[in-house]
Amino acid sequence: ETLDKGLEKSKTSFFTKLNKAVAGKSKVDDDVLDNLEEILVSSDVGVNTTLKIIDRIEERVAKDKYLGTSELNQILREEIAGLLSEIDSGNATEFTIPTDKKPFVIMVVGVNGVGKTTTIGKLASQFKKQGLQVVLGAADTFRAAAIDQLQIWADRVEVPMVRQDFGSDPASVAFDTLKSGVNQNADVVIIDTAGRLHNKVNLMNELTKIKRVMQKVISDAPHEVLLVLDGSTGQNAFEQAKQFTAATEVTSLAVTKLDGTAKGGVVIGISDQFQIPVKYIGVGEGIDDLQVFNKFEFVDSFFK
Ligand code: GDP
Repeated sequence: ETLDKGLEKSKTSFFTKLNKAVAGKSKVDDDVLDNLEEILVSSDVGVNTTLKIIDRIEERVAKDKYLGTSELNQILREEIAGLLSEIDSGNATEFTIPTDKKPFVIMVVGVNGVGKTTTIGKLASQFKKQGLQVVLGAADTFRAAAIDQLQIWADRVEVPMVRQDFGSDPASVAFDTLKSGVNQNADVVIIDTAGRLHNKVNLMNELTKIKRVMQKVISDAPHEVLLVLDGSTGQNAFEQAKQFTAATEVTSLAVTKLDGTAKGGVVIGISDQFQIPVKYIGVGEGIDDLQVFNKFEFVDSFFK
């Protein structure tokens, strides 16, 4: 129910357009497909993924010459779910914390303002509720506010946070945090990093250095690199995904702010284009407004 509510705007916008596109039509013809293409692109699914979806529907139209417009919903839903299913195997999409990696290290990357800190706070809360011991690391040392903001979440969730002064070396904070995680026998360590995109080489160097220093404590850390994207920024989120995936190996995505936007389609496009699974979606500012992304539920709620 919260998912439906969170996606209200995306859904309404999508259906209004889709209904218009099929009004007065009895079957899916070129006209309907052209309109559908436009709708998907304007819902921020992205051009490449839209073309993929249209191709698949064209194939079905070719097979079944009289594909009715009433079936279009169902078919779209099947094709999009199929597309998302091809990205990662299995259905378990949330982070499962393996007992043989202790602590399990999650490095969180993303541009400032996308909801990185909030997502870390919400994640910490979920892990804690699962009975896991969490340590946060404030390695976004370039903004004093970022450290304080994360501290607020650490206090709210009641988990320890490792910090140094504003302006200190992010890799050093990451190192300390992993040490502290090991010493406390913690289950999960979540490291916040700075989201400066001023230049690709710098970003890459920064993230590489943090990783290298972390590996002095835990040789295979980080176990996950979570990229946080603001879903309400549509094509900007695509651009950020491009830059971060070029700079480091991103293993999973969290897409935030889907509650306030009609651009929910961005989730479909980004995960397809970058072949990285979306693990979480943010549907509000509250501590419980982070949902494990379930592709089937997502597509269903989009098309319900
Ligand atoms: P950061 O700079 O990336 O760490 O961003 P913050 O975590 O500080 O978030 C920036 C703003 O976005 C804050 O006002 C958050 O409350 C808000 N925010 C984060 N996630 C969501 C979400 O899923 N939905 C909504 N509506 N707001 C969010």
